[in-house]
Amino acid sequence: MDKTSTKELAFFGGPPAFGELLHVGRPNIGDRGRFIARINDMFDRRWLSNDGPFAQELEQKIAMLLGVKHCLVMCNATVALEITARALGLQGEVILPSFTFIASPHSLQWQGITPVFCDIDPLTHNIDPARIENLITPRTTGILGVHVWGRACEIENLSALAQKHHLKLMFDAAHAFGCTHHGQRMGRFGDAEVFSFHATKFFNTFEGGAVTTNDDALAEKIRGMRNFGFAGLDNVTSIGTNGKMSEASAAMGLSSLESMDEFIETNHHNYLAYSKGLAGLSGIRLINYDEKEKNNYQYIVLEVEEKDAGLGRDLLVKILHAENILVRRYFYPGCHQMEPYRSYFPNAGLVLPETEKLTLKVLQLPTGTAVGEKEIVDICQLIRYILANAAEIRDQAGQ
Ligand SMILES: *Cc1c(COP(=O)(O)O)cnc(C)c1O
Repeated sequence: MDKTSTKELAFFGGPPAFGELLHVGRPNIGDRGRFIARINDMFDRRWLSNDGPFAQELEQKIAMLLGVKHCLVMCNATVALEITARALGLQGEVILPSFTFIASPHSLQWQGITPVFCDIDPLTHNIDPARIENLITPRTTGILGVHVWGRACEIENLSALAQKHHLKLMFDAAHAFGCTHHGQRMGRFGDAEVFSFHATKFFNTFEGGAVTTNDDALAEKIRGMRNFGFAGLDNVTSIGTNGKMSEASAAMGLSSLESMDEFIETNHHNYLAYSKGLAGLSGIRLINYDEKEKNNYQYIVLEVEEKDAGLGRDLLVKILHAENILVRRYFYPGCHQMEPYRSYFPNAGLVLPETEKLTLKVLQLPTGTAVGEKEIVDICQLIRYILANAAEIRDQAGQ
């Protein structure tokens, strides 16, 4: 980082600080040799899908790691959410946050269940249980909590509400693989939890996901639905879909599991480097992870407070993009601002004031095993430089 005048920022025509693009969400990749050896085994067996040995091994290992009775691996988390909602008998309305990835409401709406958006606690970014009761109607059948950034939502309060109102409780734990709540790994809470193993997630199987539950009957139901409703050879007993994980994906999962501790160590190291590099900056808040819990530290999330930072999130994003730092505005603009929900519920924003505020401030920085400490130091220096010269930059940008 050697910019000596704001004119040297790439946004105003200077050379970018990074020659190569630095993305948010570059995959963590484990040991290639072990992965390729597994792929060779797979070809030798000629067993490529349908509950193959790698898929079974991955299910056993994940169930053991998370301390949960059943793990069912799936082709992706979106289908896993759809199947789980269906297996739980959800219908009518389900309450969930709008501050989440669009797959959370889509998985419900796709099967004719109305997503009812609830506001968040601005400190945790998670659904605010205190606002749920107002949203419950005679049509409500469940709550879908999301562990945003892998930080547990208020599980005990949500469970108490679900029990009191006879609602099902499921969790979108797409971000939370390996993370704990009061020392217990996520995966055992509510009626079921759903993980994503997409390439951009902390732990990946290329595409993939899993449902975990301690409920035997629910697991059996999900197992059937994952495989077209088959209950045995030539015997279909109910409607199902295809949610199976391929053996290649499961092989990647087994290799990712072997490298999981390294991924966490790198992410944790990166998180601490960002904390140090951005410390004391006015108008910039880095979300914190509770060091008493296990976290996967996959998300480096900033809140940019325009009045203190001197410039807004969106201008900061444009300037960083020009420098080849591809930060992202997750989650922006909020699910209720995207179709079809924007048309269905044009006034939803009125009951989502905290969500609306947060979606305008939030920013993700690159991390993972593809990002080195030197790059993080440079990114932080650049952000410091931008904020120190915010007034001048705003002038030059005509804002
Ligand atoms: C990534 C993600 C999903 C969807 O996962 P896929 O495996 O890509 O289908 C769902 N919910 C949240 C919160 C996510 O971040």
